[in-house]
Amino acid sequence: MERVLVTGGAGYIGSHACKFLKQAGYEPVTYDNLSTGWRDAVKFGPFEQGELEDRARLDEVFAKYQPVAVMHFAALSLVGEAMEKPGLYWRNNVCGSLTLIEASVAAGCRNFVFSSTCATYGEHDNVVLDEDTPQEPLNAYGASKRAIEDILRDVEAAHDLKSVIFRYFNVAGADPEAEVGEAHEPETHLIPVVLQAIDGQRDKLTIYGTDYDTPDGTCVRDYVHVCDLVDAHILGLKQLEAGKGSAVYNLGTGDGFSVREVMDAARAVTNLEVPFDEGPRREGDATKLVSGSEKAVTELGWRTKRSTMRQMIEDAWRWHKTGGYA
Ligand code: UDP
Repeated sequence: MERVLVTGGAGYIGSHACKFLKQAGYEPVTYDNLSTGWRDAVKFGPFEQGELEDRARLDEVFAKYQPVAVMHFAALSLVGEAMEKPGLYWRNNVCGSLTLIEASVAAGCRNFVFSSTCATYGEHDNVVLDEDTPQEPLNAYGASKRAIEDILRDVEAAHDLKSVIFRYFNVAGADPEAEVGEAHEPETHLIPVVLQAIDGQRDKLTIYGTDYDTPDGTCVRDYVHVCDLVDAHILGLKQLEAGKGSAVYNLGTGDGFSVREVMDAARAVTNLEVPFDEGPRREGDATKLVSGSEKAVTELGWRTKRSTMRQMIEDAWRWHKTGGYA
């Protein structure tokens, strides 16, 4: 069976990717330092604990499993934290990824699927972003991901490493079977925070800024279901294995939801009120991030199946009610 090395396989998106890889006939090998991931999220293949910057450990894991590809999810990914600790983001994300990329090339594994972000685009007023939109990140998180994209291009020129880069919009929802789901400690992402406020696990949701230039004054984001997102990764992997070459794809739905619209949807799904207050803007936040995904649709044949706001909240709520990982 072909193996895929999944860094960050114990995290939110990585654990869903492992489930889908297994369903697609691959053996997912999780490589994770458990700094933000969960041992209990590794359910679909072997687990190897290690740091991205530990080249000797990576060499050992590549030699042991001989993966046909890497899916690289492991990263620090919080905009607020990146504003406060830029050095941490550059070191962890960029140095760690560079070490992984070099280890992959040295092991002869030349198919690389990379988890990038719409935060690489920064602020672009009144445009639907596409893959050619200039990348002008507003924070060290986006900047670190853009730098890794640059590394992949340079390494491809020298060593023929082929990559599919996915720039995600806001990932939401959970495995409908609730085997894995979103679990961060502390939780900062909008939908799980709203659900925690609804069921009393936190006092309230604070809306970060109500004076944005949007119809209701709150930030607008494009939410995509985690299962649809990882579907695209399987398609990207197959494209690499078919020798079709490197590519970059945005993954979003093209629909924007404001913070208040997400709260309304959560109220409608749960029939419960969302306790909230209104606070100042969060530093580093763009007003609106909405994507076209025509390229992924046309070239990969990607189709979203669960990315309606209602479905994403229903799936997240089902997972939330399981209590998450121990
Ligand atoms: N947000 C908010 N309160 C929260 C968490 C998030 O108002 O407690 C807003 C945030 O400002 C952004 C949107 O919700 O406009 C999505 O934020 P999240 O952290 O989920 O994802 P990001 O867009 O930063 O990747």
